[in-house]
Amino acid sequence: MRVAIIGGGASGMVAAIAASRPGVEVLLFEKGERVGRKLLATGNGRCNLTNLDLDPVHFHGSLPAFSRPVLARHDAAWTLRFFGALGITPVVEDRDRVFPRSGQASSVLDVLRWRMEELGAQVRCKGTVRDVRVSGRAFQVFADSALPETVDRVVLATGGRAAPTLGGDVSGYALAHALGHRIIEPFPALAPLRLSSPWLRQVQGTRFDGAVEVLAGGEIVASARGEVLFTEHGASGPAVLDVSRVAGERLLAGQPVRLNVILAPDLEPDALRREIDRRFEQLPQRPVSTVLVGFLNKRLVPAVLRESGLADLERCAGAVPAEARGRIAEVLEGWPFDVAGTGPWAHAQVTAGGVDVAEVDPGTLESRRVPNLFLAGEMLDVDGDCGGFNLQWAWASGHVAGEGASRPA
Ligand SMILES: Cc1cc2nc3c(=O)[nH]c(=O)nc-3n(C[C@H](O)[C@H](O)[C@H](O)COP(=O)(O)OP(=O)(O)OC[C@H]3O[C@@H](n4cnc5c(N)ncnc54)[C@H](O)[C@@H]3O)c2cc1C
Repeated sequence: MRVAIIGGGASGMVAAIAASRPGVEVLLFEKGERVGRKLLATGNGRCNLTNLDLDPVHFHGSLPAFSRPVLARHDAAWTLRFFGALGITPVVEDRDRVFPRSGQASSVLDVLRWRMEELGAQVRCKGTVRDVRVSGRAFQVFADSALPETVDRVVLATGGRAAPTLGGDVSGYALAHALGHRIIEPFPALAPLRLSSPWLRQVQGTRFDGAVEVLAGGEIVASARGEVLFTEHGASGPAVLDVSRVAGERLLAGQPVRLNVILAPDLEPDALRREIDRRFEQLPQRPVSTVLVGFLNKRLVPAVLRESGLADLERCAGAVPAEARGRIAEVLEGWPFDVAGTGPWAHAQVTAGGVDVAEVDPGTLESRRVPNLFLAGEMLDVDGDCGGFNLQWAWASGHVAGEGASRPA
């Protein structure tokens, strides 16, 4: 039996390992010059390979229950056993995140490549697959710079659109669509938010420990605490990445979305107001532009004061009325920005949306449209939170799809 795996990323490599059984010839097509390019960039080069808390709440998509059967059989313990057998010693860090003890994503890629080699999987790099045609009970796979290959089973593992320089693109969706699958509009998740604001030019490059809230339809629909970074076009940093999926989903639904940036999440509102009053009263002769210096990142101060309605930043602090100080506290409690979008794709870590999982068997990951076609990884409409959940889905779904694709007829 011949099995083609299309895509040499996290899910495709594990699918190739799972499919490599006696009597099965495995061909893995990768469009890049080498396999696993994105893997090298994961976890800031350290590869957050899974998470010990795989509660379903960390996985998303149009059918949130879809990923459960796969993750129930291939949980974090399975991932640790799988990689342990290949030589990876895990270390658990804060928030149950698991990394290789080596601290090197490259070591995770090495052991996957070596295992594929030992098992005899044939890796065809620079082999962008342009077409997959059903031909009777078999498939014909058309890749660049090679003759078409006839195979019995196909695993599509081409990933999503995120991070195009690391392999993200839409060609996998086109292949799935041509084979009869519906694609749920992909949008960037774990991504920066594009904001409309006159202040960005002044505050870009500023990084601070804060919190964010996403507001849509008159309610707070997501919130996160952690580092926030203002950029040229909006906001990024772990806290923003954590709420970006919900913001993107609401925007796609046509709702106006607002981001509140909380600059003093460590203080209750009363304590914050007392602190601001104290600072204004302590040095009344100083220009108002100096009052928050030492409390807030000073690059944020002029924009915060202007957003609070203070036009003249040279006036004495003592001359600022109590109600204006109250407005400053309000801005520090939640500086509102209109969200224009998520992305760009170049800075997104994950794709939300993708191949509609209603057309895929959740037990085997076989297509319900095309027998003997299997799908795995990020190209499916499944995405996870930041913290090792996306790679866990890639390993688990790749293994299930590879096993299914090599099952005796
Ligand atoms: C910067 C960054 C950091 C990340 N860090 C983490 C982390 O620490 N932990 C975590 O859990 N997740 C992390 N992720 C997410 C994680 O890397 C992905 O979810 C995961 O790699 C998805 O695996 P995949 O196999 O589905 O897709 P990919 O890993 O993207 O692999 C798909 C492969 O298919 C190839 N391909 C595409 N189309 C074709 C075609 N037509 N023909 C042939 N080949 C094709 C691509 O070149 C690519 O190599 C990170 C992502 C990024 C961008």
